Amino acid sequence: MKILKTLSIAILGLGLALSTYIISSQPIYAQTTACSTNGTIINPITFFNKSNRSIDIYWLDEQCQEVKYRTIKPRQVYIQKSYNTYHWVVRDSQNQWLLKQVMPPQTATTINIQNLTYRYPRATVDRSPDVFGYQIQAMYVLPSDGIDQKLDINGQIATSVAAFQQWFVGQTGKERLRLDTYEGALDITFVRLSETDAQIKKKGAFVRDYIQQLLKDRGYINNPQKIYAVYYGGGSTHSCGGGAWPPELVGQVAAVYLNGTPPKSSACNKNVLGTSVDTPKYWEFVMIHEIMHTLGFVGKKFTPSDSLLACSPNEHLGGHTLDSSSDLMYQGSLPWNVPNLVLDFGQDDYYKHNRSECLDLAKSVFLDPTPPDAEIPPGW
Ligand SMILES: [Zn+2]
Repeated sequence: MKILKTLSIAILGLGLALSTYIISSQPIYAQTTACSTNGTIINPITFFNKSNRSIDIYWLDEQCQEVKYRTIKPRQVYIQKSYNTYHWVVRDSQNQWLLKQVMPPQTATTINIQNLTYRYPRATVDRSPDVFGYQIQAMYVLPSDGIDQKLDINGQIATSVAAFQQWFVGQTGKERLRLDTYEGALDITFVRLSETDAQIKKKGAFVRDYIQQLLKDRGYINNPQKIYAVYYGGGSTHSCGGGAWPPELVGQVAAVYLNGTPPKSSACNKNVLGTSVDTPKYWEFVMIHEIMHTLGFVGKKFTPSDSLLACSPNEHLGGHTLDSSSDLMYQGSLPWNVPNLVLDFGQDDYYKHNRSECLDLAKSVFLDPTPPDAEIPPGW
């Protein structure tokens, strides 16, 4: 364990708040796979595709290989006989994204698959996840005196997350971020903190760190395989968002401050959450920017002497790039080119840059499909 120095940076109202933080070592978890075994008891599984896309049902054989059984069209129901020792998975037919890992059915079981933006009632606890392993959980967090805009249940956060996901997939061409979903729809956890907006704002550059601590104290942030994407309905006098930046700052919360009032910049709430999954706007880009920081980007590398060196030609100001104002991770004197942003302008800094010794988003364990040599964020 080592304690790292204090840093704090904010330009463009897009700050990355780094505070004194302890790096702890945690075990490396693999994405869960399981194989079917011989069984004797048959329990049917009813697959109900409530979404607007076709889904594929796969049986995991004794060697954990996926064997395709069926395609289910939108709004269709299909009943599959299964032994109580059989594992199944559900994938999106179009791009084969993993939607649900189905445990061996111990009784007759129904599996629902909703659209990503389906609106569930408010939840203050995590619903049981569709997939196991590393994933990003959306949260709506309010200070004790924050106005409840019901962003978790009126579809706004779901639309925002789906919009940055769609932008991300458009950039990678294939991979998406592993999101925490329940029955196919985003699982958004709501928390009202006991501290006031003013109390939290007093933390200055460390609002993200403080929110993370407060959530931990309340029993949240309890899954070591998750990043928590917090839509915070309170303020910050420093920036409109904050992320961790491992290995220098290991943390699990990436946050946007919806009522932030950064210095020499317009109020953050001049921007509104995106209203269409097809058109990400300012907040969607801030959130995915902060998630990228929390994954360790734009990264440094460890040298044999265990010190850190810059590992991207354009990395500057702690985790940002300077080569184009159209880069998702840009920070500099030009206006950030929202909404015409790209993932790693020139592919030389953090995505598919072909420098094996440096952190590459293409190898992240938070991607689906997960690459075979997937890596957890440095220092996790
Ligand atoms: Zn940043």
